[in-house]
Amino acid sequence: MTAETPIGEAKILSSKTRFVLGGICLLILLLLLAGAISIPFVFDSPSLRYKLGFKKTLLRTGQIFGTVAATLLLLQLVLSARLKLLDRIFALNRLYIFHRVNAVAVGLLALLHPLLVFSTTDLSNIPVELKYWPEAVGGFLLLLLWLVIASGIWRLFLDIHFDRWWLFHRIATFLAAVLMVLHILFACEIFEQGLPRTGLFMISGVYILFLGWVKVKPLLRNKAPFLINSIARAGVDAYAVEFAPPQKTSFRYTPGQFAFITFRSKNLSSEEHPFTISSTPTRPENLLFTIRCSGDWTNQIGRLQPGEKAVLDGPYGQFSHLAAGLHCELVMIAGGIGITPMLSMLRYMADKNDERSITLIWSNRTRKDIVFADEFDELERNLKGLRILHVFTRESKEAGGGGRLDEDQLDTLLQDCSRQSAVFICGPPVMMAEMRRILPKIGFSHNTIYWEKFGL
Ligand SMILES: Cc1cc2nc3c(=O)[nH]c(=O)nc-3n(C[C@H](O)[C@H](O)[C@H](O)COP(=O)(O)OP(=O)(O)OC[C@H]3O[C@@H](n4cnc5c(N)ncnc54)[C@H](O)[C@@H]3O)c2cc1C
Repeated sequence: MTAETPIGEAKILSSKTRFVLGGICLLILLLLLAGAISIPFVFDSPSLRYKLGFKKTLLRTGQIFGTVAATLLLLQLVLSARLKLLDRIFALNRLYIFHRVNAVAVGLLALLHPLLVFSTTDLSNIPVELKYWPEAVGGFLLLLLWLVIASGIWRLFLDIHFDRWWLFHRIATFLAAVLMVLHILFACEIFEQGLPRTGLFMISGVYILFLGWVKVKPLLRNKAPFLINSIARAGVDAYAVEFAPPQKTSFRYTPGQFAFITFRSKNLSSEEHPFTISSTPTRPENLLFTIRCSGDWTNQIGRLQPGEKAVLDGPYGQFSHLAAGLHCELVMIAGGIGITPMLSMLRYMADKNDERSITLIWSNRTRKDIVFADEFDELERNLKGLRILHVFTRESKEAGGGGRLDEDQLDTLLQDCSRQSAVFICGPPVMMAEMRRILPKIGFSHNTIYWEKFGL
C-alpha cells in the first residue's frame, strides 16, 4: 500500500478469536452483575424493621433488582458507543439488538424494584413532603425509562421521525443516568456512606469520562473530512457517491461493511446515516457508496456536489463472505438496494479470481430498479461460478414477474445449491424475516445464515 492510497483491506477476526474475546466480555459482564447482586448482602440495610423475616427477603430482592437495573443501564452506553473492538467481536447489529433487549430488562427490573421495596410499607400513610424528593426522583426516572423504551419500540407505529426520536433518546438517556445516581445517593440507605458511596462516585466518574470520550470522537473525525470525488446516477432512483479520503488517513474495510456518513453540504442537512461501502478494498483508488432515494433525506442525495465534504464513521459490521470461510459455496439473497454489500463482495471476489460457486437471487420491483445493470453482466462473465437469478415483484408474468419470493420459488431456485452453503441476506425487513423463516425449512442451517438489516 502506498502513501497515496490510504484505503485498503482490513483483517477480519477469526471465529476462534471472536469466541475467546466474546467469552472474556461475557465474563466481565457476569462479574459486574455478581458485584451488583452482592451489594445488598454485603452491606446490610441499617434499618431495624428490615432485620428479620419475609420483609427482609422482599427488601433485599427489591434492592438486588435496583442494583442490577443500574448496572445494566450503565451497560447501555457501552453497547451503543460503536466501540470498534466490540463490533469486531459481536458486530454492531447484534450489539444494537442486545441494547434493545437490555433496555426492556432494565425497565422491568426498575419497575419491580419499588414494588418490592415498598411492598411491606403502607404507602397511604406517607405524607407528601419535600424530604421524600429522592423517592420522587426514582418515580420520575421509572417514567422516563419507560418513555424511552416505548418510543424506541413504537417509533415507526407512532410515526416519529428518526432524527427527532434520536435526539430525544440521547437527551433522555443521559438525564436517566443523572437521575439514577441522585436516586441511589439519596434514597438508598446502603449508599449513604462507606465503600458503596465511594464506589458509586468512582463509577459515575468513569461514566462521565467515557461519555466525554464518546462525544469527543466525532469532533476529531470532523477535523479530517473525506471529499466527494464524484456523484453519478446508478439507476433510476439511486446514486453512486465516490469519496477521496483525507491525507494521512487509513481507512481499511472488508467487503460488505458499512459506515455512518454525515455530509457537510450546503444542499443537504447534516444528518448522520448508515450506508454500505459498495466498492472493494482490492481497488484502493476509490471508496464508493450506492444510495437509493427512499425517504425525506435520501431523496435529496442528488443535490450533493463534487468537492463537498463528508465525515465518515466506520467501517462497521461483519456481513462479509470473508467471515464465512475462504472456499465455501455462497448463496446471496438481495432485495432492492440490499444488493450493495453483495456488490462489494462480488467485486472483491472478481478481483481475487475467486472460482467458487455463487448463486445470487436479486429481487427488485421492476427491471428498471436494477442498479449497475452492465456491471452485473460483466461480473457474471468474469466470475466463473456466479449465477444471477432475477426476481421481479411488480412486473407482469409475461415480463418475467413472479411476485414475492416464497418457499416453493426459493426451493426451486436453490435446488442445485449445497445446503452447507453460507447464505447472505440483505433487503427490506419483511423480506428478510421471510427468508430467515423459509431457509431452514428448505434445508439450510441457521448457523450459516448471515443477514444485514438496513435499519438500526
Ligand atoms: C447497516 C446499514 C446499511 C445500509 N446501507 C445502505 C446502502 O448501501 N444504500 C442505501 O440506499 N441505503 C442503505 N441503508 C439504509 C439507509 O440508511 C436509509 O435508507 C436511510 O437512512 C433512510 O433515510 P431517509 O431519511 O431518507 O428515510 P426515512 O424514510 O426518513 O427513514 C427510513 C428508515 O431509515 C432509518 N433511518 C433513517 N434515518 C436514519 C439514521 N440517521 N440512522 C439510522 N437509520 C436511519 C429508520 O429506520 C427509518 O425508519 C443502510 C442501512 C443500514 C442500517
